[in-house]
Amino acid sequence: MKPLDGLHWPNRFAALGSDFYTELPAQGLPDPHWVATSPACAELLGWPADWAARDGALGVFSGNATWSGMRPLASVYSGHQFGVWAGQLGDGRALWLGEVDAPAGPLELQLKGAGMTPYSRRADGRAVLRSSIREFLCSEAMAALGVPTTRALCLTGSRLPVRRESIETAAVVTRLAPSFIRFGHFEHFAHHEQLDALRRLAGWFIAHHAPECADAPEPAVALLEKVALQTADLVAHWQAIGFCHGVMNTDNMSMLGLTLDYGPFGFMDAFDPGHICNHSDDRGRYAYARQPGVAFWNLHALAQALLPLLPIDTDQAAEASGERLLAAVEAFRGRFASQMLGRMRAKLGLTGEDDGDQALADDFLKLMAASRADFTISFRRLSRALSHPEPLRDLFVDRDALDAWLARWRARVAPDAEARMLAVNPAVVLRNHLAEGAIQAAQQGDFTEVSRLLKVLSRPFDDPENPHDAALPPDWAQGLEVSCSS
Ligand code: AMP
Ligand code: MG
Repeated sequence: MKPLDGLHWPNRFAALGSDFYTELPAQGLPDPHWVATSPACAELLGWPADWAARDGALGVFSGNATWSGMRPLASVYSGHQFGVWAGQLGDGRALWLGEVDAPAGPLELQLKGAGMTPYSRRADGRAVLRSSIREFLCSEAMAALGVPTTRALCLTGSRLPVRRESIETAAVVTRLAPSFIRFGHFEHFAHHEQLDALRRLAGWFIAHHAPECADAPEPAVALLEKVALQTADLVAHWQAIGFCHGVMNTDNMSMLGLTLDYGPFGFMDAFDPGHICNHSDDRGRYAYARQPGVAFWNLHALAQALLPLLPIDTDQAAEASGERLLAAVEAFRGRFASQMLGRMRAKLGLTGEDDGDQALADDFLKLMAASRADFTISFRRLSRALSHPEPLRDLFVDRDALDAWLARWRARVAPDAEARMLAVNPAVVLRNHLAEGAIQAAQQGDFTEVSRLLKVLSRPFDDPENPHDAALPPDWAQGLEVSCSS
């Protein structure tokens, strides 16, 4: 194994040229310390288990040093926030370091929280320990749940004070993804009518991340359809585990269909289709049940951005091009519906397909909503309900209605469904109160709970050693609020 300092740091994004980014050094954390590392991520990179102790890694991943070949840069993008055009945004506190040639393909590395960039607007370029712990843990938890996501390699911290609602301390998360390109990157160049740059970006993205689209009659249409399908798969995953992203602005939407930018996300405790996890989202634009519709809306914004890549020289040509793009976005609907039904069948332990499956799934969710039954625990207990129905019944107010539903379910479910259901209905998800416990300990300088939780969350389908990790939230968790402040 070469020393990590001797790695190559290819940077294919940098080849796009200076319209797309600004090169600048990080502003490192003063007197940094490790908070946590993810062994699964190191493995993904093909790095040795002791990588964090080698070659000045702490300096690199707190933004104080670079390994030779790293070329830090911040990219420019724009986007729609809460349904309105927000203008230029960009990496206000993220820095791309370059790529690692990992065993399964190249992975971009990004520092988040390593200082101001030309895109910071009026903000400080920092990330606080609280939200960084949430991003670090949830990235790895989602990966273990099988949900497409950016990953988090490590987390460093410092005593550097950072002002939010109160004074907190600074941290840096290192994220990994095959690409951090967002819908907003395309929107940026379309909005500013930089057609050359838009064309280059599309060509670059297709060449490196969607090569199968290159030979399509219209690569931009093929790309949009691919993104629509991947986004449908992603949101079906989210819905099936009760995950709310919280800020589904187009600048937070990954062109690879990854969960990206963990902020005020939340896993639902009591099931409520209208659940709003982000305290700053007063109208509930990003409520749980609205996520599929918002993804669809966001895909239309992407379609609009790709339109100039198609023939638009006459009104007629433009209209026809628009229709081809809209047809590509439409692919979202069918795919989302079939993915969602497939996931619900698996959650209910149904093999094969029956016309009544959709209604069976919908009716269980309705009963859960009527009782505000805990999302994760309901499905976990349902997994064992063929042999032990009582713990499930305890969660419901209208037991007769549940019993009637269970009779329908028993008539449909395979008798050996339990093991399969336990493998898709997680025992442990990153509930806000679990994250909060790790945050409060870390704010006192004790990082053991972060690492312990990471370990538990990396095996979400196992019943945890400590039953509290899979239990209903305590009463104090009702008062927890997460907002865009991070
Ligand atoms: P978000 O709502 O976190 O997706 O961020 C929206 C935009 O604000 C992006 O351009 C971010 O880079 C930027 N941003 C958010 N927080 C900060 C911060 N503390 N410093 C600089 N830029 C930030
Ligand atoms: Mg963002």
